[in-house]
Amino acid sequence: GLKCGIVGLPNVGKSTLFNALSSAKAEAANFPFCTIEPNIGVVTVPDHRLKVLEELVNPQKVIPTVIEFVDIAGLVKGASKGEGLGNKFLANIREVDAVIHVVRCFDDDNVVHVAGSVDPIFDKEVIDSELQFKDLESIEKKIQRIEKIAKSGDAKAKKELASLLKFKEGLQSGKNARAVEIEDEDMEAVKDLHLLTIKPVLYVANVDEGSIQKGNAYVEKLKEEVAEENAEVVILCAALEAQIAEFDDEEEKQMFLSEYGLEESGLNRLISAAYKLLNLITYFTAGVQEVRAWTIRRGWKAPAAAGVIHSDFERGFIKAEVIKLQDYKQHKTEAACRENGKIAIEGKEYVVQDGDIMHFRFNV
Ligand code: GDP
Repeated sequence: GLKCGIVGLPNVGKSTLFNALSSAKAEAANFPFCTIEPNIGVVTVPDHRLKVLEELVNPQKVIPTVIEFVDIAGLVKGASKGEGLGNKFLANIREVDAVIHVVRCFDDDNVVHVAGSVDPIFDKEVIDSELQFKDLESIEKKIQRIEKIAKSGDAKAKKELASLLKFKEGLQSGKNARAVEIEDEDMEAVKDLHLLTIKPVLYVANVDEGSIQKGNAYVEKLKEEVAEENAEVVILCAALEAQIAEFDDEEEKQMFLSEYGLEESGLNRLISAAYKLLNLITYFTAGVQEVRAWTIRRGWKAPAAAGVIHSDFERGFIKAEVIKLQDYKQHKTEAACRENGKIAIEGKEYVVQDGDIMHFRFNV
């Protein structure tokens, strides 16, 4: 599955957020949150379109799609040099698809700040520089490996070396790899390195209850700071999210939210933002047995999309029947869509679109 790693300094609210995610009552009953390991959890991706399909099809089961969250605690200053369990945590980050960086943007005299005062920019830089240090190490190792080959005139190695030097320079000046100015072709040289600071990132500004709607001065600073990375900032109050997550009853939850002037929980916004960050889209299958959401990357063609269901579907792919949700809503049943010419027959080259309702035909 797709994994998001939650990072940040100690005491910024990571565990509170993770626990809120773990106790969030899943919107679809048959896919509750489950904790795989103490620090790994799976949450369902909220999607109103599933509800629409459920009402139209009336299936036995509804299965939403999921994302995994990993709580990567223990990142402290010096982690890259092996302080604490530093290296182990850094290895955890290498395995995730995207990073959720929690930054403390709330004042509370009762909660000790590891660096003495609340300063989101400083906090972010501490974490960033640990990760950058690790990336620099990987890059320098590779440079050492190919330098000689490049000097001997090998064209490919020369080109790679040039790309690596761009990253090295950027990292040394305090930039994350994702923010280094490069050409597309420079990516080739670092593909095998799984750099930590090249992974897509979003920031969570953990604010006090009073700042959930408008943010605060800390949030403004953070937004300015991350503009260069083009990163999104999700504002939420982790402590409040923990309370919101406790509600079983949807109506009570909505009432609680509206007391705070919210339409949606911060967790939902976070999950959706993470989904977007990973460049993921959803297609659906809709039958009387089950209505189900499937996750694919934007741009995938029909056979690859089918492969998410089963590898046989991809291998034996013949064609796909595609209905647009809008048409399904209008005509109410698959049969009616067929009668009205609203089922498109697509081949191997079809690029699946967000919200498509798919039916695959394949050879076994
Ligand atoms: P972690 O070390 O990053 O995992 O941080 P924790 O989640 O353990 O939180 C550290 C402390 O900050 C705990 O005492 C939390 O109760 C408190 N805390 C977390 N989120 C908030 C918040 O949004 N507002 C306030 N006031 N306190 C919070």
